[in-house]
Amino acid sequence: MSIYFDNSATTPVDIRVFESMIPYFKEKYANPSSIHIDGRSIREDVEKSRAVVAKTISALPDEIIFCGSGTESDNIAIKGIANSFKHKGKHIITSNIEHKAVSESCRYLEENGFEVTYLNVRENGIINIDDFKNALRKDTILVSIMLANNEIGTIQPIKEIGQLANKHGFILHTDAVQAVGKMNVDVSELGVHLLSFSGHKIYAPKGIGVLYIDKELKNFIEPIIHGGHQEDGIRSGTENVPYIIGISKACEIIQNELHKDIEHIKSIRDYFEGRILKEIPDVYVNGDTENRVCNISNITFKHIEAEALMVYASEVCCSTGSACSSGGMDASHVLYAINIDPVDAHGALRFSFGRFNTKDEVDKAVEMIKVSVEKLRAMSPLYK
Ligand SMILES: *Cc1c(COP(=O)(O)O)cnc(C)c1O
Repeated sequence: MSIYFDNSATTPVDIRVFESMIPYFKEKYANPSSIHIDGRSIREDVEKSRAVVAKTISALPDEIIFCGSGTESDNIAIKGIANSFKHKGKHIITSNIEHKAVSESCRYLEENGFEVTYLNVRENGIINIDDFKNALRKDTILVSIMLANNEIGTIQPIKEIGQLANKHGFILHTDAVQAVGKMNVDVSELGVHLLSFSGHKIYAPKGIGVLYIDKELKNFIEPIIHGGHQEDGIRSGTENVPYIIGISKACEIIQNELHKDIEHIKSIRDYFEGRILKEIPDVYVNGDTENRVCNISNITFKHIEAEALMVYASEVCCSTGSACSSGGMDASHVLYAINIDPVDAHGALRFSFGRFNTKDEVDKAVEMIKVSVEKLRAMSPLYK
């Protein structure tokens, strides 16, 4: 039996979410755009779901666009705003620890005549607000900075940036994929104009995303997908009704259980991290240990290859730096950005906890990791 500590990569579907979706694969199959009685009934259910999703982030139902993934939500926001405001300026600010969905969208825009500033974070993984102010220009139209980082969990000062948005006249987007369900997320409190999140990081299925867009901005954003004008023309294509029902159930659970979830997940994470730090020598936590979401622990095991540790402690499901997915041995861009020793970066693992993890699983995992670290270090010519 494996132990799943990789909830930032994806979560299992909550059984309550799964059950809420089933009727929409069976008898409730009508197209919500159809004007017959069945279609109208499904439309009503989709709109009820939109209201629930909106409430979860303190938005209005009209401000919620359903789309195909977190990646798609980020793309619609960044490319859509850039294209619709390019007459006002062509400068974009982002951070150097963004998810690829944001950074690659920015790179694409760079190739198409936009100028992008990639703000460095400090060694704790958080941007410096003064650096941000210095990067602002008269022609800055868009700022896209994530709320919580997916590798080290650090939380960015989005509220402070939001306070600067109106004064300086830029549009603010945040990737909140790793924040929703792990902390309170309120779009008006944050002062963001657009916000993205994803179903499969909050116990709903893979392949459903949400874009929040401020009602004032909604009429201006340029769509990147054209078609039948669903989702107010911002994301055409017949709505994925079962998944929309599913993500709204996941949001309803967050509304009711966020505090319980945070308390549980944080206690599991802190128990795990505490034991690892106490019982294994030469390990340390990456990123800010205070200002981070409740579920992520990114730990460097010195003198060890993270991949080797994953092979030895193979029942513990966790992640190495996401850049390794490219097949190369490049350390993660996030660990590089927080300036950790490049050798140490190869020994870093991300453990991310979730609603269904238990203390018992932590006890088993810690034992497996301890034994594996000892074996690997005993073999290492570098470790004394
Ligand atoms: C997972 C993730 C995404 C992408 O979401 P998908 O639904 O998998 O496309 C974007 N941003 C962050 C921070 C993520 O963790």
